[in-house]
Amino acid sequence: MSVFPKAKFSIVDFSTRYSSEESCRELFFRLRFPHGFVCPHCGGTQLGMVRTRGLYRCKSCRKQISATSGTVFHGTHIKLNLWLWAMYLFTVDKRGCSAVQLMTKLRVTYKTAWYILHRLRIAMSHRESRYLLDGFVELDDTYLGTATHGKKRGRGTEKAKIMVAVSKSAEGYPRYAKMAVMPNLKSITVGKFARRSIAEGTHISSDNAKSYKKGLAEKYFHHFKTFDPAGTELVTLHTFISNFKAFIIGTYHGAERVHLQLYLDEFCFRFNRRMYRESMFERLLNAAVFCPAVKCGWW
Ligand SMILES: [Zn+2]
Repeated sequence: MSVFPKAKFSIVDFSTRYSSEESCRELFFRLRFPHGFVCPHCGGTQLGMVRTRGLYRCKSCRKQISATSGTVFHGTHIKLNLWLWAMYLFTVDKRGCSAVQLMTKLRVTYKTAWYILHRLRIAMSHRESRYLLDGFVELDDTYLGTATHGKKRGRGTEKAKIMVAVSKSAEGYPRYAKMAVMPNLKSITVGKFARRSIAEGTHISSDNAKSYKKGLAEKYFHHFKTFDPAGTELVTLHTFISNFKAFIIGTYHGAERVHLQLYLDEFCFRFNRRMYRESMFERLLNAAVFCPAVKCGWW
């Protein structure tokens, strides 16, 4: 269902359409029940309104239902109007939006801005977890963070270890991507990442690291050879990694290690929908409405 009549709407259209809590609530409700209301408690389809509380009420079982209960917005005290603005600002620029930028634009505290973005990333991450890569996939690992002087380099580094997989079209163009923070790069862990991210029977290209050969041996067609930096192997993947690092450094000036996975998922969410930039806001909104409630932080 398209919520917005035009594929691209201006900031003026946006502010006019969603200026009140009521209009926002109606939007959230329409998104949650695109085929009409069905009570999650009794299956009833008749609906009333408790206007004083901004809640809906099932006419069959009389239970009250909020537009945001059971979604990623569940239990927050932030106005829906503010959530929508945050999602708009977060998606209108392909470089994303940091908590400091959001704080300034929405005139909220840093804590509120951080909290909003954190939940939006959880929604992106949840949506990304529904898909697997298939076809032809390039696979490699990379590192993120500051090198510690005198410590190990390469696979023994103390930097965050990240597995990256990018699927390609038959013509060699990048299609979709997945990334994950890894505790190590042993074959068992590589195998786990692959099973979580890549469909069985996929053709995977990588360098000839031992852990790849072992980790990918069973369920995939694994093609490997010694990596040549001057060659054409893994070019798609390494371009993707460079863009990801520029994104993390440019917008977020690095990312907290503990939340790094969410930043990886945010980048993949944006990358995997790069052909639909004009509807990115709507796609995030849908992801958020269908992301189960989460327990996080101090709100
Ligand atoms: Zn009911």
